[in-house]
Amino acid sequence: EENHRESLMIVSGYAAKFFHESLLETEEGQNIGLSYFKERGFTSETIKKFELGYSPDQWEAFTAKALKEGYQQQFLEETGLSVKRDNGTLYDRYRGRVMFPIHSFTGRVIAFGGRTLKTDKNVPKYINSPESEIYHKSNILYGLYFAKKAIRDEDNCYLVEGYADVLSVHQAGIENVVASSGTSLTVEQIRLIGRFTKNVTILYDGDAAGIKASLRGLDMILEEGLNVKVVLFPDGHDPDSYVRLVGTSAFKAHIDKNRKDFILYKTDILLKEAGNDPIRRADVIREIVESIAKIPDSIKASVFIKECSHILEIDERALLSELNKMRLNKA
Ligand code: ATP
Ligand code: MN
Ligand code: MN
Ligand code: MN
Repeated sequence: EENHRESLMIVSGYAAKFFHESLLETEEGQNIGLSYFKERGFTSETIKKFELGYSPDQWEAFTAKALKEGYQQQFLEETGLSVKRDNGTLYDRYRGRVMFPIHSFTGRVIAFGGRTLKTDKNVPKYINSPESEIYHKSNILYGLYFAKKAIRDEDNCYLVEGYADVLSVHQAGIENVVASSGTSLTVEQIRLIGRFTKNVTILYDGDAAGIKASLRGLDMILEEGLNVKVVLFPDGHDPDSYVRLVGTSAFKAHIDKNRKDFILYKTDILLKEAGNDPIRRADVIREIVESIAKIPDSIKASVFIKECSHILEIDERALLSELNKMRLNKA
């Protein structure tokens, strides 16, 4: 109930403060966590605004302090901040990691992502809070609290993959940016964006996984009746690494120059894959019409059919009849 949720949020807020202070005020935090963030180019202002932190590399630093201050074991466990051993005692879930608190869209801390500083492949790069009564990850967008005003003002939302992408893009002055961190994009997340704008621009990583995720995200966004554009980054780059490489103004220029509406984007990618094989090119056309068939607004869909016929040099009527067939099959 409400009291229970409040208790979970209070302990999460306490933890955020603990990790933040440990980053800024302890020697270990400064030497390891803070120098890591500085090396990544995050300013003090960004670190403060997003309440970034550091979890000491000990088994019980956080848990022991929280218990001593009177926070109940039950809430420490339910938030996933502490984990129970077989003998019933608790230890810290996050140890020696830099911490990214996840805020609800009213600004309360409800969960964490913690990044390892080790390069060991066997250690998971990010650990995220488990689901709890206050954290349903499919309903949460990282950064939304800090982005919502800009999303409304700009009437557009940039969607990135990771925590660092949100921070770097925000720091570059593009504040209308959120990430679906810890999960692949969900319908609930798209509807959440839809409360602030009908326009989404996907800025995923420029690798095979990012392209695949963008194609999937694109269809889901269309299905929810939102408009979607995509910007690709050079292979091996994500928005965070790219903005650091080229600087803010070149980053903005890249976005403006490479922003593609979904048809152009999908056509580009699929046609590249298909090459000159006529059968595979026909498959491409069908796939694109399939995306268009997901658009609930039929006037909008017919505009895209026209564009598609232009790009692919295919008779518009052929595309329309394909579209209608798909619509009938869906109904
Ligand atoms: P960094 O720049 O810090 O190396 P990234 O955000 O670029 O991290 P990616 O590998 O591109 O990392 O992953 C994108 C996002 O997916 C991460 O920000 C994180 O939210 C999530 N993620 C990555 N690895 C894991 C993992 N092992 N477990 C859970 N979530 C993960
Ligand atoms: Mn990636
Ligand atoms: Mn990255
Ligand atoms: Mn990445």
